[in-house]
Amino acid sequence: MMVMFCAKCGRKEEVLIENLCERCFWENKEIKIPREIGITICPSCFSYLRGKRWVKGRDLETTVIEGCINEIIKLSKVQRDLKIADIKGKIEEYSNEFPIRVELRIELSFGEFSKILESRGIIHYQRCNRCIEASHGKYDAIVQIRGFDEEALSTVNSIIEEFKIMNGRPEISEIKKVANGMDVKFMSVNRARLFTKKISERVKVEIKESAKISGMRGGSIHYTTTISIRRSPIEIGRLICIGDGIFRILKTHGGRIIAENLESGEIKELDYKDIEKSLIIEESSMKEVLLKSFKEGKVELLDVKRGQCFEVPVNSVQKGLKVGEFGILIAFKDREYIIRKIL
Ligand SMILES: [Zn+2]
Ligand SMILES: [Zn+2]
Repeated sequence: MMVMFCAKCGRKEEVLIENLCERCFWENKEIKIPREIGITICPSCFSYLRGKRWVKGRDLETTVIEGCINEIIKLSKVQRDLKIADIKGKIEEYSNEFPIRVELRIELSFGEFSKILESRGIIHYQRCNRCIEASHGKYDAIVQIRGFDEEALSTVNSIIEEFKIMNGRPEISEIKKVANGMDVKFMSVNRARLFTKKISERVKVEIKESAKISGMRGGSIHYTTTISIRRSPIEIGRLICIGDGIFRILKTHGGRIIAENLESGEIKELDYKDIEKSLIIEESSMKEVLLKSFKEGKVELLDVKRGQCFEVPVNSVQKGLKVGEFGILIAFKDREYIIRKIL
């Protein structure tokens, strides 16, 4: 093995880098890596402050380590021919389950040679602007939920849980309960719309959206959006009984309900007050029948499910129903009605 001497300190070495021993080589390079850096994390949403901007984080530990690594890269300077090959961070100390100190190991490399430097990250906690605004009840949209029963409200509550914190950020700034409903304030209109959509997928509702100017913010006009969600009192296709008449709901439109009287075929416009007074005909009081024949004021029917035939007076059958057609028999208030099968 050839023995060489360091050009700077004269130490005897087997390997020299650029004619220097390893120690002199690294001492000779310009390496500025801060011994300590500080980062700021929001304790509520775990965002961290990067320059002047709050950057969304993931879980707290990951954000803390990523934040420290980004900060050390930003503040470090090494001579051009060197490379920062790797930075590892490990949480060294916690206070009330919040990391406060991170140990950082920075690996510098020059070709096949490398050197480890140590640094430390100090974590400061400060609430971000968004979390401060959310805690002050700031909102861009309010969703007003009305006419919901207990069951529908518990569905809403489970959806609220998904929206409280989304991607680590608060989306709801206030929840207020009112009779048969609630008001939910959202930090953004888009989230409020998404929330509304999720409710409408699980509860039949009517939705109205409006926006009004609420003032100036940051030099421009600021709008507040109100989304009103009302429970539809009636479903399309539903059968109801008002007085003596049996109606099928055909459509609802802007507070009006269009229904067909199944005996006369008359189309009638109802309002929600009529619906409140109506009786809903449940599926348990209906059965599928096949019209077999008309004779002597009677109609012979086949109960499709049970395979039995029976007769009813001809005036029980909806006009226009013919032999060979399927119908629905409704047993209601001691009467029987046979109507065309609901598709
Ligand atoms: Zn040397
Ligand atoms: Zn925050």
